[in-house]
Amino acid sequence: MNVETIKTGKCPVCGSLEVYDNRDSNQSGDRKYISVSAMYSFGVEAYVCLSCGYFKEFIRDSDISNEKLKEKVKEKWNRTSGGKIE
Ligand SMILES: [Zn+2]
Repeated sequence: MNVETIKTGKCPVCGSLEVYDNRDSNQSGDRKYISVSAMYSFGVEAYVCLSCGYFKEFIRDSDISNEKLKEKVKEKWNRTSGGKIE
C-alpha cells in the first residue's frame, strides 16, 4: 500500500514533519475505544500535525489484523454502500 498517510510521520497536507501520535500514551482520550460488541472494541490511535492542525484517527494495527474482531464487525455493523460502487 503506497498511500500518502500521516502514519509515515510526514503530514500529507502541508508536508511538515511535526507529526505526533498517542499510540504509546497511557492517557485516555475522548475516543480511546469504539465498541463493536459487549466483548469487543477497537482501539483508536490519533495523529496530529502541529503545523497545520491536520488530525486523523485510525484503528490500531493489532485490531485490524484481529480476525475475531473483524468477524464481529461484519456481524454487527452495516457494510457501507454509498451508491456509486455496486
Ligand atoms: Zn500539516
